[in-house]
Amino acid sequence: MFTRRDTFRLFGGAAWFAGAARASADEKLVRGDAEWRKVLTPEQFEILRRDGTERPFASALLHEKRKGVFACAGCGLDLFSSETKYDSGTGWPSFWAPLPHAVSEREDRSFGLVRTAVSCRRCGGHLGHVFNDGPQPTGLRYCMNGLALEFKAA
Ligand code: FE
Repeated sequence: MFTRRDTFRLFGGAAWFAGAARASADEKLVRGDAEWRKVLTPEQFEILRRDGTERPFASALLHEKRKGVFACAGCGLDLFSSETKYDSGTGWPSFWAPLPHAVSEREDRSFGLVRTAVSCRRCGGHLGHVFNDGPQPTGLRYCMNGLALEFKAA
C-alpha cells in the first residue's frame, strides 16, 4: 500500500511540506536540546524538555475562557479544545479530555509517586499529568502546565 507517509519520504520529508507545523501528529518532530533552547523560553524548556512543573496559579491561561484550541508551545500541534476546559481549582489549566491522537501517556514514578505523565504526541514535550478525579463525561483531569500551551482563539 502506498501511504501518505511514503509520499512524505518520497519528496524529502519536512522540507517539501514547508514547515513542521503543518505536519500531522504522526510525523514526529525531533530536535536536540540546543535547538529547543533557541525556540523556547528557559521556563518552557524546563517544563517541556525536562518534565518541569510551573508554580500553581502562574499561568494566564488559567483564566482563558474564550472558544479556541490550546496547542503545544513546542511544536504547535493542537492538543485541547476549550470545550473540555474547566476550573479544577488546582491552579493549573485543566481539561477533561485531549483532542484525538494529540497526546501520549506514560507511567511516571518520579518523586515517590505513581502518576501518568502526558506529553505532546508529535514533539514529545512534557505537558503535565492526568488524574482520575475529573468531571464527567470522562472523569479525567488533564492537569497541564500553562507554559507548555499556546492558546489560539477560534
Ligand atoms: Fe509538541
